[in-house]
Amino acid sequence: MSESGLASPRQIANRINAHVLSKNVGTTTSFPLRNPSVKNNYPPNDAAFTSLTDKLLKVCINGEWLALNSASMALTVTPSSPSHVLPINNNSNDSLTHHRRLLLCLNECKSISQLKQIHAQTLRTTSIQNPDTFFLYSRILHFSSLSDIDYAFRLFDQIQDPNSFMWNTLIRTCARSTESKEQAILLYNRMLKEGSVMPDKHTFPFVLKACAYLFALSDGEQAHAQILKSGFGSDVYINNSLIHLYSSCGCLEHAQKVFDGMCERSVVSWNVLIDAFVQVGEFDTALRVFNEMQNLFEPDGYTVQSIAGACAGLGALSLGMWAHAYILRKGDADVASDVLVNTSFVDMYCKCGSLEIARQVFERMPKHDVTSWNSMILGLAMHGQAEAALEYFDRMIRSETFLPNPITFVGVLSACNHRGMVNEGRKCFDMMIRVFKIKPELEHYGCLVDLLARAGLINEALDLVSNMPMKPDVVIWRSLLDACCKKNASVELSEEVARQILDSEGDDCSGAYVLLSRVYASANQWNDVGLVRKLMTDKGVTKEPGCSSVEMDGFAHEFFAGDTSHPQTKEIYQVLDVIEEKLESMGYQPDFSQAPMVDELNDRKQHSLRLHSERIAIAFGLLSMKPGMPIRIFKNLRVCNDCHKVSKLISRIFNVEIIVRDRTRFHHFKDGSCSCMDYW
Ligand SMILES: [Zn+2]
Ligand SMILES: [Zn+2]
Repeated sequence: MSESGLASPRQIANRINAHVLSKNVGTTTSFPLRNPSVKNNYPPNDAAFTSLTDKLLKVCINGEWLALNSASMALTVTPSSPSHVLPINNNSNDSLTHHRRLLLCLNECKSISQLKQIHAQTLRTTSIQNPDTFFLYSRILHFSSLSDIDYAFRLFDQIQDPNSFMWNTLIRTCARSTESKEQAILLYNRMLKEGSVMPDKHTFPFVLKACAYLFALSDGEQAHAQILKSGFGSDVYINNSLIHLYSSCGCLEHAQKVFDGMCERSVVSWNVLIDAFVQVGEFDTALRVFNEMQNLFEPDGYTVQSIAGACAGLGALSLGMWAHAYILRKGDADVASDVLVNTSFVDMYCKCGSLEIARQVFERMPKHDVTSWNSMILGLAMHGQAEAALEYFDRMIRSETFLPNPITFVGVLSACNHRGMVNEGRKCFDMMIRVFKIKPELEHYGCLVDLLARAGLINEALDLVSNMPMKPDVVIWRSLLDACCKKNASVELSEEVARQILDSEGDDCSGAYVLLSRVYASANQWNDVGLVRKLMTDKGVTKEPGCSSVEMDGFAHEFFAGDTSHPQTKEIYQVLDVIEEKLESMGYQPDFSQAPMVDELNDRKQHSLRLHSERIAIAFGLLSMKPGMPIRIFKNLRVCNDCHKVSKLISRIFNVEIIVRDRTRFHHFKDGSCSCMDYW
């Protein structure tokens, strides 16, 4: 234990991994993380540039600048700082003075039109044969690339035999721009083809960055081959860029292979790999890598941001809090007040069920951006706090600093959805299109369809689906079928919707079969129930097993339905018996509407309901949790009607707060009722 009494992340990660890794089913990978995670944008090379800048300036002053043209890629001098001193050249004092004057003008130039004047002067008054002129051109190219990429391209094309600094300048500019990333790859290919200068260690990171952004795996692989051929295979910055490339393109194995083969690693290498695992939802692995990293490097802001993402995915509140405390204790004000770092904590606290802390972190942030507003709105929506979500949305648009983006409206619409606020939902959808000119995407339609269907307006939902400009996805059909099932729509309509799901290729259809069998069961069409079950068996469709996990002092304890593998199984089942007795004495009647064994005997049904994974998790929570502490449960599927009813009763009987994150949202059970107000 550390001085503060908190377990170290390594201890916590160890404990979490020890249990999580022993089971092969991820509990949270199926949680639809609609909240876009904060995207890291690693600058794998900037540190190197800064140090090279210093080096370069020193060498310039010593009069060796020409030899270093290839290394001068690192220059990050702003036009206002006159930091270039031309070398003493005894043979041509006049031209030196002239070149120096032009260079000083360049350093002080404030606009592209001034830059163009200097360029014109250079063309008119200097000789291209003079090496000083060549340097001048490389500076003009550098400055023009910062403000006018087309102009930089025109200038570049006029230079005969550009050196590698010039190539790199342009490639870097393209790789960093939002719209010209493809040009970076084209330029690199042109560089190879022309062959007068070869790409160097400053070329590759930017080419790889562009490939990663464009998911251009094959271009990236070719660059990788060239890297090995040119002898840069052990360069740490290049390898970091390769890890980033492979992970962005979904080739985690390749990323890991590059990482494993590195003879030297930096903190960035670890950060890129950890983030790669977080981005694909392999949170356990991310924590395992983080664990290894700690033997060698101190986590920085990027690391902590990724760890917060992993904790959000796993619902690992203790480790997430440790990471937060770590950043605050470390005393680095820049990191502690960083908008991305704080946003990742807001997101983490929301997803771990601590909405209040999320709000505190948000309110204390020195500044916000659209993503932080979105995280807060989505978090409130997920917890069913629709009014608060709309309040935050209102604050956001009234601040006049931030325009909502499509993700904001996913948050706003799902807030309305989780509370069944049909009119507000329609209004927000309309506002998005008319006021903010945002074209609704599939996800927005999905929210509205779900909202309408769950409120019983199935026909209006179907109308919306048929008028959508894009093909509805399986999520939309599934929410319609779910509504048909709950609202007792006609069997014919349900069958039609189910057919749409089964027709959509390549998706797991088990949910549709289960829902359809419920439709038949509630219509007492038992033969059809049997048919669906047989179809499922024939096609090898299996229902995703329910799995619930509880975090206790940094340990994640996982339970499947009917699980008997936990070391405290005997005590857990004793608690289940006590719960059963108390429920019976209160006159509780099980709700079989969603029991899987619809066609079997009542005893068996009751037995199977009683053993749903979250019940076992709750029993474990009652057994082990300190009094007064809420029981936090993460479930991979939706909570069923009966478990919802039972959880409410348990919260009253045992005077305990139970916070459940299921596949779609949070339920806070307290004093016999749930925060979702039974609308979910
Ligand atoms: Zn259940
Ligand atoms: Zn609820």
